[in-house]
Amino acid sequence: MGLTNVIKVLLIEDAPAEARLLHEVLKGATRQEFHLVHEKRLKDALNQLETQIFDIILLDLTLPDSEGLDSLTPIINHNSHIPIVVLTNMNDEELALEAVRRGAQDYLVKRHITLDILVRSICYAIERKQMEKQLKKANQDLEKRVEERTIQLLKAQELNQLKSEFVSILSHDFRNPLNTILLSAGLLEDSHDQLTRDQQLSYFQMIRQAVQDMNQLLSEVLLLGKADAGKLKPNFNELDIKQFCQQIIYSLHLSCEEKNQIMVSFKGELQGELWDEKLLWHILQNLLNNALKYSPQGGKIYVDIIAQEKTVTFRIQDQGIGISQESQKHLFEPFYRADNVENIAGTGLGLSIVRKCVEAYQGQIFVDSQLGKGTTFTVILPRQQPVMSKIEESMEQI
Ligand code: ATP
Ligand code: MG
Repeated sequence: MGLTNVIKVLLIEDAPAEARLLHEVLKGATRQEFHLVHEKRLKDALNQLETQIFDIILLDLTLPDSEGLDSLTPIINHNSHIPIVVLTNMNDEELALEAVRRGAQDYLVKRHITLDILVRSICYAIERKQMEKQLKKANQDLEKRVEERTIQLLKAQELNQLKSEFVSILSHDFRNPLNTILLSAGLLEDSHDQLTRDQQLSYFQMIRQAVQDMNQLLSEVLLLGKADAGKLKPNFNELDIKQFCQQIIYSLHLSCEEKNQIMVSFKGELQGELWDEKLLWHILQNLLNNALKYSPQGGKIYVDIIAQEKTVTFRIQDQGIGISQESQKHLFEPFYRADNVENIAGTGLGLSIVRKCVEAYQGQIFVDSQLGKGTTFTVILPRQQPVMSKIEESMEQI
């Protein structure tokens, strides 16, 4: 039955005679032992509930400090798990029924109470309350499962939508360089004799650039796929971070007109630090590329690299077109591009790659931007100190 050996009963009843009677009745029980605690006022009963655990409450609906159904609510609010059996007089059965509707398990008319009726009512009330609890729990579990399943479905839908978006954008972005290749190859073939050497070279160069663009697009898509499959794991090695940053900046400068000045500053000690070169390359290359690309009117770009005790912060600040508050919410979604990019070229994949790489690094990324004023991206990565044996090795050499 799930009932404990001794059933602890809290009787809330102001009439001493009635209370005594109930006490006597319960004493007569042979198959089940009852321990009765009696209180005359609701306030004292609530105090009892603070300090003791009861299996059941027997509640008289007329108390000196509370009348009728008003007694029920504070008890249920205090502890909704204890079953309540309401005790009534002959003339207020309506009230008792209302009490049951509001959460009491049962009601007993005082004059009709016998040992059998009382014990049965108590035991049933406890059982029913337990079943109610189990049912509630089962319901909650079910609701949770439905919710989880809905989220899974929504994710699958989102993924499907993303996939079709992916395919349409990819085919568009592949078609452009393919057209360039086709056109250049056709011109080289048809008018080979009439072209100067320089013209020929320029068509070959266009073909090479188109192939490079396609190659880069492919590797970015592959990288995103790898990250989504959870396969993007960092691989730490020693790296001269200053030289590495300078190389990225140098190659970015080569590929765009030098209208911007990039000012790099390093703070703190970073020697011997371990890095994942590939992840870091994607992060810095994309953020710097954006800073240059979205500053069409020129302006300085500040790159601050700050080593702290446990983290390294990379701050890339530009004075470009900026990003609206609304767009900032979507920046890291694949293929998202803000409205103000106008004819600045891009696929909208860069920042989603940056985010995946920062996540793989277990770092954080923040953006702070104002339309027309400029943008600051801050990436915080955990420091990867060389392992102890390496430090000891270098100490021995000293
Ligand atoms: P690509 O895939 O070639 O990098 P993209 O630069 O458009 O294309 P993201 O790097 O992902 O794509 O950037 C997404 C969008 O965020 C950009 O299209 C642009 O609207 C906005 N954005 C990113 N960086 C900046 C910045 N520094 N200043 C202003 N807008 C920016
Ligand atoms: Mg970009």
